[in-house]
Amino acid sequence: MAGDASAPVVPLPIAVGAPARPSPLHAPLRGLWRAIPARLRGPALGLAVGLAYLALAQFVIWLNDPVNAGAGLWPAAGLTLGALMLVPGRLWPWVLAGAAAAEFGGDLAHGYPLWVSVGWSVANTAEPLVAALLLRRFGDRWGALTPARNLILFGAFALVAGPVVGATIGAPATVMGIGGSLYDVWPKWMVGDALGVLVVAPVLLSLRERRPRRGWPEVAALAAGTLAVAVMVFAWPAGGITRTMAYLLIPFFMWAALRHGVRGTAWLSQAVTLNANAFTATGEGPIFRADAPSEHAVTLLQVFLAVTVASALLVAALVSELSDRRDVEAALRHRASHDVLTGLPNRSLLPGVLERALAGGGPAVALLVCDIDHLKSVNDTLGHRAGDALLATVADRLRAGVREGDLVTRISGDEFVVVVRGVEEDRLEALCTDLIARVARPVALSDNGEVTPSLSIGAAVGAPGLTADDLFTGADTALYEAKKLGRGRTVLFDDCLRRHAADRIALQADLPGAIASGQVRCEFQPEIELATGALFGVEALARWDHPTRGLVMPGSFVPLAEVTGNAGRLFETVLDQTLRSQGDWLAATGTRPQVAVNLSPQQLADPGLPAAVARALVRAGAPAESLWLELTESAASDESAPATLRALADLGVHLALDDFGTGWSSMARLTDHPWELVKLDRSFIAPIARDHGAVHVVRAMIVMAHALGIRVVAEGVEDADQLDILRDLGCDIAQGFLFSRSLRADDLPALLDAGADWCGPGGPLVGPLAV
Ligand code: C2E
Ligand code: CA
Ligand code: CA
Repeated sequence: MAGDASAPVVPLPIAVGAPARPSPLHAPLRGLWRAIPARLRGPALGLAVGLAYLALAQFVIWLNDPVNAGAGLWPAAGLTLGALMLVPGRLWPWVLAGAAAAEFGGDLAHGYPLWVSVGWSVANTAEPLVAALLLRRFGDRWGALTPARNLILFGAFALVAGPVVGATIGAPATVMGIGGSLYDVWPKWMVGDALGVLVVAPVLLSLRERRPRRGWPEVAALAAGTLAVAVMVFAWPAGGITRTMAYLLIPFFMWAALRHGVRGTAWLSQAVTLNANAFTATGEGPIFRADAPSEHAVTLLQVFLAVTVASALLVAALVSELSDRRDVEAALRHRASHDVLTGLPNRSLLPGVLERALAGGGPAVALLVCDIDHLKSVNDTLGHRAGDALLATVADRLRAGVREGDLVTRISGDEFVVVVRGVEEDRLEALCTDLIARVARPVALSDNGEVTPSLSIGAAVGAPGLTADDLFTGADTALYEAKKLGRGRTVLFDDCLRRHAADRIALQADLPGAIASGQVRCEFQPEIELATGALFGVEALARWDHPTRGLVMPGSFVPLAEVTGNAGRLFETVLDQTLRSQGDWLAATGTRPQVAVNLSPQQLADPGLPAAVARALVRAGAPAESLWLELTESAASDESAPATLRALADLGVHLALDDFGTGWSSMARLTDHPWELVKLDRSFIAPIARDHGAVHVVRAMIVMAHALGIRVVAEGVEDADQLDILRDLGCDIAQGFLFSRSLRADDLPALLDAGADWCGPGGPLVGPLAV
């Protein structure tokens, strides 16, 4: 896939379906958990594990006597391991205590000698503990069965390493206390526990897995078909049916794996296993032979089931990995041209449409920049949900207010752009008045509240000789005027307003001097490593202290620098200041934090860039390894990008892909250049605490980046819920207001304490300078 940007994404017929959803049990269980007071959660968990353990043990004893028939199936092993994998490490002692107490108490109650009971309790806690520790240390995603590599590690640690430990402790205890041969008991323990884990743990862990959305007729057909065949095969009188008939179940396992995800496969496996064990233990079915000891049949059955269940789970994990990939590609493609919230096209379509309309010489084209007044105060007072509802309604009303063939797009938070074709200047005002009236009707909110939005419009009409950029600048300036005049109105760009455009041109003219005279300076925003809570590095963000206008943000002047060919000079001053500050921090604190500097897209076309970076490093005496350069996706698709990026990487500086997901088409392009870090755009992170679909996309992007050996930064992390989720998803680094806004260089040394933990102990605590 490397290098081929246009590679089509092959649709996968098997897994295609509506978006997946979380388990229906997930929310109620989470609610129940949160309802328990924090200090009682440990004991409650221990009690629940203990009771469930006793129930499962009792069930197996009812199925077959675990000692004489060989512990054919020991689901309690899966229960303990599954519980460990679902709860945070600080609750592990409670889980283990619950399991040990249940095992010990149960054994004594059944009359086993004291020290046999002790041996079994130790075996049954050491086993899941070893598996859990290994999985946590080496697995890709803790507590999950996907991606496939994780499942394979689950097989190695939970089905082999754990049970080996359990059998090695438990089998000698059995032999010495009760009798039998080690040669017999050890493998039975091993196989019975492995299968017990395989049947129970995936069902527990699948609470966290998504399941493809399938209609209930298919689910019912699968369940009924499987049960019918399982009962037919395994309840058949022994001897009346050949062993190969057990293979009749395999198509059902594959059906589940291909269409119903890890979750469906886990449930199906459990149903078949319990069925098969129950019938085989009572001497029925294809496995049992009247002329052989019944325990042989039980062991043989476990081997058959273990292989089938493990294969089916592996297929399911592979399919879910592929369909994750497809979902991410689709989300990226759609996001590249559409606004997520309103479903409207985004600004990427505008330049083409406008240039075509202007070049056509046909009927006049008008550009309206529409801004929702006071959206920020709606967000602040009524919450983002209300703000989102308002935006969606306004989008609908705008769409309804224009003609077929006109284009409505959302270009930023509260701004919409409408391209109207074939409207003369005198009729334009009427159209704008109508749009304002349509929008200014009350919007009902979900909590019975109501808001009435108002709209300000800046309009500009195309004329010969004007470019799309001119129209934009004109409409923008007019909008600014409309807001100043009291909002809820339209202003048409006219001669008087051209003054304001001139104003901006003046800002543009000031810029080179400002760069030269040091009015442009840097602030630094920390990036935090989630695994350790340590500072990963700081990103330099440019600020312009304008002598008459005050603080000018990069969003206003970086684009001006770019269109006037000053991007390189801006970059060099930011880089120099950043490396100088880095040296100051080193002198003050003895640590040299990594620094990141942003590049403008045009700079990749500059063959002198690598040499300029090398010179700056020499001037500052800084090692190249301490510098990261951040580039956006559009920059990286430039023709000269590969050579420049290679040359930069050869210097030893690190490359990060910035604003990932805004205007990108495919994850495959991550392999085009030597990226070491990908920064997921804030728009992906913002919804994760309220939208399961967004979590899914972020999770899949993290998994795929990791598969390519690329670490992931989450941008714009603003609250502890987002941080929690990102940590769960295995995100490496986070940046955002939750930890800190950007800081002046002088404020940084106080935060450079190498041992500082920005995430705090025992949960998501907030960084020292959080807002
Ligand atoms: P960026 O590279 O994505 O930088 C992150 C921006 O997100 C910064 O805005 C930062 O203040 C803001 N941010 C960080 N955490 C949060 C958060 O939790 N919530 C929210 N809402 N925002 C957060 P800033 O400083 O206004 O910079 C805007 C953009 O200007 C930057 O986006 C970058 O693309 C560009 N820029 C800044 N400095 C330079 C520079 O020296 N050179 C170039 N070429 N571009 C620069
Ligand atoms: Ca950046
Ligand atoms: Ca960014």
